[in-house]
Amino acid sequence: MSEVTDLLTDLVRLPSVNPCGCEPEGPYQGEERMTRFVHEWLQGRGIDCRRQSVSPGRENVIARVPGREEPPIVFESHMDTVGVDGMTVAPFEPRIEEGRMFGRGSCDTKSSLAAMMIALARVAQGDPPPRTIELVAVVDEEYLHGGVARYLEDSGPVHCAVVGEPTRLRVVVAHNGALRTRITTRGVSAHSSNPDNGVNAIYRMARAVLSLEQLAESLRERAPHPLVGRPTLSVGTIVGGMAVNIVPELCQIMVDRRLIPGETPDGAFDEIAEALDGILEPGDDLAHTLKDWPVETDRNAGIVETVREAVRAIGGEDEPEGAPYCTDGCDFAERGVPLVVFGPGDIAQAHTAGEWVEVAQVEAAVDAYELMMRG
Ligand SMILES: [Zn+2]
Repeated sequence: MSEVTDLLTDLVRLPSVNPCGCEPEGPYQGEERMTRFVHEWLQGRGIDCRRQSVSPGRENVIARVPGREEPPIVFESHMDTVGVDGMTVAPFEPRIEEGRMFGRGSCDTKSSLAAMMIALARVAQGDPPPRTIELVAVVDEEYLHGGVARYLEDSGPVHCAVVGEPTRLRVVVAHNGALRTRITTRGVSAHSSNPDNGVNAIYRMARAVLSLEQLAESLRERAPHPLVGRPTLSVGTIVGGMAVNIVPELCQIMVDRRLIPGETPDGAFDEIAEALDGILEPGDDLAHTLKDWPVETDRNAGIVETVREAVRAIGGEDEPEGAPYCTDGCDFAERGVPLVVFGPGDIAQAHTAGEWVEVAQVEAAVDAYELMMRG
């Protein structure tokens, strides 16, 4: 087995399921095992490395190889995975068959992390790289991007970033952002035999939902972005009422609005507020639960050229692409840091019951990351 396959095997064996808003508990939850392993592994190779607390029991790992120039180029990847319920392969006993490694996180995104770690260890052995490199292994990508947010809060300026996610070794320079909102209508409960004594929160929410459907329709008319298409809006959940014989005093929906480059979370929020103007009443509530900025890096930016050169050198396809999903790149974009998303594996296998990654891609990613680090 290659060095990176070995390392990836070790990483997949360490459960790191994102607890998604709860305290890490249960045998598979939390990134602590990964944090300890990644930190010790990097330290063992003589690389300057520290842990950074994000929340109780959850820490990022930040490694640094000094180069001739500051500020650093950041190589970022996440240590958490989605859950393992219903998986059809053993989640934490990685197995390789016909060139594919199976297991939770094998694709999303321990493969990117393993490849970055091996590449960094190689670069650390030679002459100083042209620019200081920070390898940042973060917690909590799959839920709130809490790890990367914490890192960026504390870090000094960042020159540019490479975000490791499964792009099939393609150069992703643009992807969607997301705005999630929670909308609550409040009425007055009453016995349903006398509905005039109450105010029905569901009726008002029904009007709100229809107005949001119209807003979703209108988004179809907007000009598409050449790499990621049109913005979208979807009402995802609705909850309301206590019993059939009580006029409901509460109704709540969750709305997922995907943003294309050029849009901002605040702008999209204002559109939703406008759609609900005249429907929501005092006591009702519209609040955001997530704001992820869309990503669009100028294709002439230095980091795009660096990544494309590395991809050409390993014989890959270097034409910049877009992607529909969100990554930790949203947080770099929000702060104006140019970034490229690049890594082994296909997003089609991420989060699936039989998650796998093509081992040859992970090996090629090591060479690509090393070339990027050597600039
Ligand atoms: Zn991921």
